[in-house]
Amino acid sequence: MANGARWVPWTSILAQMSEILDAVRAGAAPAVLEATDMPLTTRAVFVRREDQGMFAGMATKDKDPRQSLHVDEVALPELAPDEVFIAVMASSINFNTVWTSIFEPLSTFGFLDRLARESYWGRRHALDYHVIGSDAAGVVLRTGSAVRNWKIGDEVTVHCNYVDDQDPSGHDDSMLSNNQRIWGFETNFGGLADIAVVKANQLMPKPTHLTWEESAVNALCNSTSYRMLVSRHGAPVTQGDKVLIWGASGGIGSFAVQHVLNSGGIPIGVVSSENKAETLRELGCEFVINRGEKDYRFWKDEHTQDESEWRRLGKDIRSLVGDDPDIVFEHPGRSTMGASVFVTKRGGTIVTCAATSGYMIEYDNRHLWMKLKTIKGSHFSNYREAWAANQTIIDAKVVPPLSAVFALEQSAEAAYEVHHNQHEGKIGILCAADREGLGITNHELRDRVGERRLSVFRRHDKE
Ligand code: NAP
Repeated sequence: MANGARWVPWTSILAQMSEILDAVRAGAAPAVLEATDMPLTTRAVFVRREDQGMFAGMATKDKDPRQSLHVDEVALPELAPDEVFIAVMASSINFNTVWTSIFEPLSTFGFLDRLARESYWGRRHALDYHVIGSDAAGVVLRTGSAVRNWKIGDEVTVHCNYVDDQDPSGHDDSMLSNNQRIWGFETNFGGLADIAVVKANQLMPKPTHLTWEESAVNALCNSTSYRMLVSRHGAPVTQGDKVLIWGASGGIGSFAVQHVLNSGGIPIGVVSSENKAETLRELGCEFVINRGEKDYRFWKDEHTQDESEWRRLGKDIRSLVGDDPDIVFEHPGRSTMGASVFVTKRGGTIVTCAATSGYMIEYDNRHLWMKLKTIKGSHFSNYREAWAANQTIIDAKVVPPLSAVFALEQSAEAAYEVHHNQHEGKIGILCAADREGLGITNHELRDRVGERRLSVFRRHDKE
């Protein structure tokens, strides 16, 4: 195997693992953590290089993360000077967990091999297993020699923008870096583990009023939506703007709704069930379209779209809010892009960060140029934007859309649910935290926000 690394039966090193994690769980002082040996391995969720071809020829929906995701012990790498080890108390399932697990649109081992060609430290990533996960909340266990702003014992959340600060192309906006990557997707040693390796410039303070699992589900999706709808790099919402949000009770959608409301805009949330519509109303989104009920057929067949169906959506939006949307928050891609371009207001913007249903999209360009619309591409966020997005959580202006919590061993089941759109909001994963509800240090703020508001998405999960 690459670099001689291997995974080993986890029972053999359980005792070794537990000492420092037990200390973290017991709330040990930084000096105690520093004096406790780091283990050589960690429990982690990974895909295997040898499985890359396992789903060849299968339809996307039939590719099952439960066959490709494994949980076992893997070796921890040497720490680079600009990195920290964190005890991951909780993590989350993102849609990129699904992409990695079904090896679509590419196997992520290609990303790791490319990273390995860049530097001495990059070489550590090209292993025969890929530890995935692009969210984490936890405690700093060790800091590399070049880390200045963080210390052992700090409670943190982690954003997933992984950049090389020696690359000049990234010094205006690090998302423009030539070798910008997503941690735990295009790098190894991600967040679905008891211990993860993180660059110091991915760290942010943990919100004190939230549990570990509530803190762990925000950074990736919240920062993405923040850049798309708040930052000048996206399509920033101004007061009164009407914003059509696809998948409005999903991962990025549930943050998009909150950012639009906070900016004084009017979200029009699209969801596929009445249960999800109810969640949105509780979140404060007054205008909701249930696409399940409306049964839009934007595509007549695989190759032909139906403009009359785009028009029907447009009419439904006008009858709800009296106007066309200034902004459309796009990510389903092939199924919806034609409709999104059509319904956007003259001079408006379609801001897109994904293409879940297919990336070879098709729209009628006449509706774009004749009505002076703009399609804006967006991808995650830079550190400043992620920090600002994290601040919205710290200030309780945005609440975590945590809908369910799974144990690390159940990550594959959780990924299966996300793959099949059986979830709402975000699924949290308990890693080193041995139970839910831990990690709150500011009870006063939590009381002010209120359990009801913090559990909008969980109530629906229980019904
Ligand atoms: P998610 O939690 O699964 O939510 C997506 C929602 O989109 C679903 O809940 C579903 O809502 C809706 N949807 C799915 N297929 C649809 C279709 N064909 N037509 C209309 N609506 C559809 O996923 P997510 O975390 O929000 O991520 C969404 C996409 O963005 C994924 O492809 C992900 O990889 C990508 N993403 C990109 C970035 C980036 O930085 N570029 C960051 C985060 C996520 P309803 O069924 O209720 O309508």
